[in-house]
Amino acid sequence: MEIISDFHIHSKYSRACSKQTSIENLEKYARIKGITLLGTGDFQHPLWNKEIKEKLTETEDGILKTKTGFSFILSTELSLMYTQDGKGRRIHFVLLAPKLSVVDQIIATLRKRGRLDYDGRPIFGFSAIELVDMMKEISSKIEIIPAHIWTPWFGVLGSKSGFDSIEECFKEKTKYIHAVETGLSSDPPLNWRLKALDKFNLVSFSDAHSFWPWRIGREATVFDTELKYDAILNAIRTGKGLVKTIETDPSYGKYHFDGHRNCNISFSPEETKKYNGICPKCGKPLTIGVLYRVNQLADRPLGEKSQNAKEFIDLIPLSEIISLHYGVKQLYSQRVWGIFNQLIAKFGTEFNVLLNAPKEEISELLGEKFAELIMKNREGKIKVKPGYDGVYGEPLFKEKQNNGDHSELRKKYNFDFERKQKSLDQF
Ligand SMILES: [Zn+2]
Ligand SMILES: [Zn+2]
Repeated sequence: MEIISDFHIHSKYSRACSKQTSIENLEKYARIKGITLLGTGDFQHPLWNKEIKEKLTETEDGILKTKTGFSFILSTELSLMYTQDGKGRRIHFVLLAPKLSVVDQIIATLRKRGRLDYDGRPIFGFSAIELVDMMKEISSKIEIIPAHIWTPWFGVLGSKSGFDSIEECFKEKTKYIHAVETGLSSDPPLNWRLKALDKFNLVSFSDAHSFWPWRIGREATVFDTELKYDAILNAIRTGKGLVKTIETDPSYGKYHFDGHRNCNISFSPEETKKYNGICPKCGKPLTIGVLYRVNQLADRPLGEKSQNAKEFIDLIPLSEIISLHYGVKQLYSQRVWGIFNQLIAKFGTEFNVLLNAPKEEISELLGEKFAELIMKNREGKIKVKPGYDGVYGEPLFKEKQNNGDHSELRKKYNFDFERKQKSLDQF
């Protein structure tokens, strides 16, 4: 079956995350978004772990179900801070676990190395290599996925505290790494520029800090497998059954360009080079973003694709499109919600609005101009002012000049609208 998944999310117990993030809210908005399988996030946090055990029922397939039948997979994110090859490293990893008893073992192991209760994404001082050893000792079915690999501060390939290759980080344990998370600020074509990444499957998840529909599922991975942990694991490891990813435009991410947030300086890689990487306002080194870093490590021109390239879809979240069209800045404003809910009432899910809803029907509901904007988004043509140094990119009315060199891989989606509609009604 087709599974639209988002495995990188955080609970209310993670820092800077919405305090309303409960299992109920995650289910509610995942259904509205059109997600089939959501990560629990933060599985080792004592209070969140308790909530998972209270509110979800484990099935023998390694999928956890809510009372109303929504599916979760056990997931978390860990932060490692250590020194390797004479340089300080700070790297984030997404972990997937096959069942609750394995999570209990992970908790017992991690507890010996640090506290688990102060943040849903705890920090440890051991290396990525040790992490692999520890997890493999517990279960061969635990999957370790380097998270948002390009972000400057916490990506395995990031400019500030990352490595120049996955091998440099994991050494002989690299064979246990099968997939990498591209993160919001990069997309598949940027990752294809590194031949060294060809052997890893690319996955996309949202790293959502709240359950709102402009956060969860803004990036997602689509599988065509049975809804079982082993089947998903196999797809992540072999690429078979991993059909495509849903991406935001990489400019939408918070670290696409270089710059200084406090100095209001945003530079393309070319501009950064002109200023030798130094901020013209404060004189300190700029935060080097994803595009610069990709250029630095790339050994294949943009436009050429890797042999195991999958399809992908570029999409800006619906709330952003509404906000852009009506000129209302706040995504959580009543105006944006009102229109959002009108669309969901008619078309069932956000993904269905963005990908399948007929133009004429959208036009009838909200006018020709709005319908045209939805079509432009569907074709990946909405230009985005690039994000930098922690500032999100901003969708613009302007049309993208170059709509990517990969239009054949940027496939339109065909949703099973009836099925989605039904599952929403049931809820
Ligand atoms: Zn992270
Ligand atoms: Zn500055």
